[in-house]
Amino acid sequence: GDLPPDDAALVARRQAALGPAYRLFYETPVHLVRGEGVWLYDRQGEAYLDTYNNVACVGHCHPHVVQAMTAQAATFASHTRYLHDTVVDYAERLLATMPAGIGHMMFTCTGSEANDLAFRIAREATGGTGIIVTENAYHGVTLAVAEASPSLGTGVPLGAHVRTIPPPDPARLGPDVGTAFAAEVQRAIDDLKRHGIRPAALLVDTIFSSDGVFADPPGFLAPAADAIRAAGGLFIADEVQPGFGRTGAGMWGFARHGLVPDMISMGKPMGNGYPVAGLAMRPDVIAEFGARARYFNTFGGNAVAAATAAAVLDVIEDEGLIANARDVGAYLRDGLADLCRRHETLGTIRAAGLFIGADILTDGKPDGARAVRVVNALRRNRVLISASGPRGESLKIRPPLPFSRANADLFLDRLDQALKAN
Ligand code: PMP
Repeated sequence: GDLPPDDAALVARRQAALGPAYRLFYETPVHLVRGEGVWLYDRQGEAYLDTYNNVACVGHCHPHVVQAMTAQAATFASHTRYLHDTVVDYAERLLATMPAGIGHMMFTCTGSEANDLAFRIAREATGGTGIIVTENAYHGVTLAVAEASPSLGTGVPLGAHVRTIPPPDPARLGPDVGTAFAAEVQRAIDDLKRHGIRPAALLVDTIFSSDGVFADPPGFLAPAADAIRAAGGLFIADEVQPGFGRTGAGMWGFARHGLVPDMISMGKPMGNGYPVAGLAMRPDVIAEFGARARYFNTFGGNAVAAATAAAVLDVIEDEGLIANARDVGAYLRDGLADLCRRHETLGTIRAAGLFIGADILTDGKPDGARAVRVVNALRRNRVLISASGPRGESLKIRPPLPFSRANADLFLDRLDQALKAN
């Protein structure tokens, strides 16, 4: 490719130093040195429109967040075993965005740890070990959650206590997604029981990001949550992807489904890049665990993490980013629908706010190889995006939330060009 010699040398050093388990995006990797708002800049000063990074949810390097982070780091930067108001203030503020039944907030550094903690709590609360996830789910890197992350592929075997169910895809389950998805949960529960395993939890990403983005019809998750509870298990909403306003319908993805989860894991956008994550729960769910175990996570909820995360909430509120996700998300969805009519290689659009999946097709069938070509064409044209889904066939459009209509127009224009050429 057109990789500059210095970057080629860095790729080689990277492979030598980091080993074989790491991957870079794109045929020609992008060497980024700076970020601001929805833009990322490479060494040559070229600007790239970021349509993919949900971690930088309020925009890359947002000055209010950076200021809060550095001010706290310069003042007091220790953990939750000392009395300090930052973590308490933040927990109260976050809980106020959740349904009344959710009463506690615990802090970790990663979404993986939050899901891992949720499994431990669910085991204590239910006496079961069985876990149900979707076919191409990703829930993180610890041993326990990697065993429940089928998107990692056959190289990472599923746990013997893990069952997978199809994603809530109307193309597979039919129009009554809610009933059909709950029936799949019931089938998994029955199979666990046949093997002498008591169900502990149904864990789903409420926007089904790695399964290809499934958002509609709102409400379809409620019967599935009922089914797992009827079997003595818990419903855990993984909000690592949809949380913090991205769906444009309130702060949390589960809210679109009119249900209250037993536990809610969150991470990625929570600190706009600072590693902060957590788990919220109904108080009764943690009673058993709390009686037996203590939980201390050295960096989880530290004062800098709490101050940074609080500043992210400030920006989401002050800049009206949930409303922006709703409005620009709808605008982008309409623009994509228009592109769909002009390109037979662009298929179904599935979206909630600024979380959009768009299938790339050949002869009406999902085509992961073509999606790779489109993604790389966009990268050459200075637009950063990636693809997901079981065959990598769905463009995943997930920009920082301050994404504007003008940004959307630029993206649609570049996508139009990429589809014409591929
Ligand atoms: N759950 C979901 C749905 C995720 O997308 C991810 C990260 N991609 C995780 C959990 C794990 O989060 P982390 O990488 O912070 O451990």
